[in-house]
Amino acid sequence: MSNYNWLETIKVTEEMISKTNKRLPVIWISALDCTGCKEAFTRSFEPTTLDTILNFISLEYSELLSTASGYQVEEHKESIFEKYKGEYVLAVEGSIPGSDEFLMIAGKSVKEEIIFAAKNAKAVITFGSCSAWGGIPAAGSNPTNAVDIKTILPDNVPIALVPGCPPIPEVIIGTLLHVHFHGELPELDKKLRPKVYYQSTVHMTCHRKSFFDQKLFAESFNDEGARKGYCLFKIGCKGPTAFNACESIGYDRCIAAGFSCLGCSEKGFWDKGGFCGKRKK
Ligand code: SF4
Repeated sequence: MSNYNWLETIKVTEEMISKTNKRLPVIWISALDCTGCKEAFTRSFEPTTLDTILNFISLEYSELLSTASGYQVEEHKESIFEKYKGEYVLAVEGSIPGSDEFLMIAGKSVKEEIIFAAKNAKAVITFGSCSAWGGIPAAGSNPTNAVDIKTILPDNVPIALVPGCPPIPEVIIGTLLHVHFHGELPELDKKLRPKVYYQSTVHMTCHRKSFFDQKLFAESFNDEGARKGYCLFKIGCKGPTAFNACESIGYDRCIAAGFSCLGCSEKGFWDKGGFCGKRKK
C-alpha cells in the first residue's frame, strides 16, 4: 500500500489555489523557432493545458496562440507591459538572430523586444533548446549568427532555462505553475535548469535500464533484442548523457516508442549527432 496521503495533497492544493486566485500573466515571445515548444505547451495531460489556462496562468500574448493578431494583439502586449510591470513572466522560445533584419515583430527586432520585455518581467523562462543553447538555428554554419538568450540579457535578470526539442509539456507547465504558486522561479542547477526536472539523466530512470545492467542490447531497430525491449545504447541512445525527465514524468517519450534518446535537451545536440547512426552522404 502506498503511503501517499491524497487527502493531505488535495487540502494543500486547495489552500494554494485559494491563496492565488489571480492568474499569472505570461507574455510568450517567439524568436528563431519552429513553434514546437508552444505546441508541446498545448499538450500537457497533468494538469491539462486547458485547466492551466483557465485557472492559473493568463497567456496574454503569443504570436501563435493569441486569438487576435496584428495591431490589436501588439497593442494588448504593450498594455500588459504597463499593467503588470514586474508581475508578468516572459516566456521565450527560439534562439536570437545575430542581425536584426532576420526577425522583426511589429517593426522591432526580436532581440530589442526581448531585452525590453525582460527588463520589467518578474522572471524569464526560456522554453526549448534553441533559446537555452542556440539549438538548430545555431547549428552547422549558423547562417543567421543565432545565439542563446543569455548572450543578449544582463546577468541580473532572473532566468530559468527549460531545454528540450521540444521540452516535456508537463515540465513547461510545472515551471510556470511554480512561479504562480510560489512567486519565484524553482530551484535551479548550475546551468539554470529547474533542478527538479533536470537532476538526473534519462538513463538513470529509463524503463530499459535493467536490460542495460544485464548487458542485453538491441543491435538494430528491427532485431529480436529490439522486439524484446532491450536497451538501445548500441544503436545510439544518448540517455546516459542527457539530463531530462522524459523517463520519469514524460508521457510520449522516445524510448518507450522504440526510438533511442537523441539527447535533445543537451547543448549542441544537433551538431553532436542527435540522430542515431551515421548520416548518409
Ligand atoms: Fe540507458 Fe538508453 Fe539503454 Fe535506456 S535505452 S537504459 S537510456 S542507454
